[in-house]
Amino acid sequence: MSVKEQMIQNAKEGRVLVHRCTKCGYVYLCTVYFCQECGGKDFEPAVLEGRGSIVTYTIITVPPTGFEKYTPYAFVVLRLDDSDLRISGFMADIATPRDLPVGTRARITGFDDRGMVIERDES
Ligand SMILES: [Zn+2]
Repeated sequence: MSVKEQMIQNAKEGRVLVHRCTKCGYVYLCTVYFCQECGGKDFEPAVLEGRGSIVTYTIITVPPTGFEKYTPYAFVVLRLDDSDLRISGFMADIATPRDLPVGTRARITGFDDRGMVIERDES
């Protein structure tokens, strides 16, 4: 499987594939050549739970061509509980800011042609 396929597979299982610095444990979403925290150059793959809180978002009311079927939706940024990582993705049925207070609990539930799919975490 390619890195992208692994990322999609993990997203469908509600997880995020990351690269963890073997020296200090700091995690990165993308491949990096050295750790910004400690300068370490060795990384290992790790999988984090895709749960956290919404930190910011943009409501999309005028979608790009081909995405009309999804509106209204929001482009959201989710800060994961287990790290400082911020994951961007899409949340359905968000029409006004009342629909999504900052701090709302949410989780990754899949991946489609827009990218990461994020839903409210009702549990
Ligand atoms: Zn490090």
